[in-house]
Amino acid sequence: MKLGRILKNDKIEYGVQYENNWYKQDVNDDLHFLEQYQQNSLILTSHENLKDMEFEWLPPLARPGKILCVGRNYADHSKEQGKSPETKPIIFSKYSTSMVGHMSVIPYPSHTNNLDYEVELGVVIGKTASKLKSINEAWDHIFGYTICNDLTARDVQKSEKQWTMGKAFDNSLPIGPYIIPSDTIPKPTNNEIWLTINGEKRQLDNTNNMIFSIPYLIYYISQNITLEPTDIILTGTPAGVGFYMSPKNTLRQGDQISSGVSSIGELRFSIK
Ligand code: MG
Repeated sequence: MKLGRILKNDKIEYGVQYENNWYKQDVNDDLHFLEQYQQNSLILTSHENLKDMEFEWLPPLARPGKILCVGRNYADHSKEQGKSPETKPIIFSKYSTSMVGHMSVIPYPSHTNNLDYEVELGVVIGKTASKLKSINEAWDHIFGYTICNDLTARDVQKSEKQWTMGKAFDNSLPIGPYIIPSDTIPKPTNNEIWLTINGEKRQLDNTNNMIFSIPYLIYYISQNITLEPTDIILTGTPAGVGFYMSPKNTLRQGDQISSGVSSIGELRFSIK
């Protein structure tokens, strides 16, 4: 089962993809959408085959309370920048206005000459987490998983002490296509995470190579920031980003990007 949002006939619909069908849900906000699933009260009645529908994917949640991101959480990504692995997580933010859905066509941002890609596993919080006592209990606070890209204006990021303008600009967070609930798949701790540009493999690693694990990140953040349902955590990107290739090979207009996490699915977008 996959939970998401679409735009159809100029109307936003929350709904569920089950097999190849779309079941519209009678709900108007993110929190109730997640709660209906948690309470087993999603109503799967009338449906349409996705192949027969004209629609656009939207980000699976409209207004996540917080979007927290983790910098340099794979050792090889630190290494490609000539840095030692981090000893504590680097946390920064994106905003709901950063998000765009699956299959988006993203205009090249005007404030950068080095737009870079970063595929990441996204974790959606389903239960409030504040000052967790143990790392292991963090799993109970996860609603589900999605695929994200932490698009980065690398030249802007490197020119400023804070990363906000280089990381949280409009369209900098392709996300989706949907959320896979955590109770429907094994923990994604041994999943391939990958990204291709125009069919060429650029990033490939395994989520078990995260420096700080999914539950540790939730435990760590919760000590000082209360995590709430609909919050999203981006868990960091593997090596292979364009800025650190030799020569540099960041995104260009016309590029088709495909990215994924093996048990979650595939997220695609392009740059115009
Ligand atoms: Mg990132």
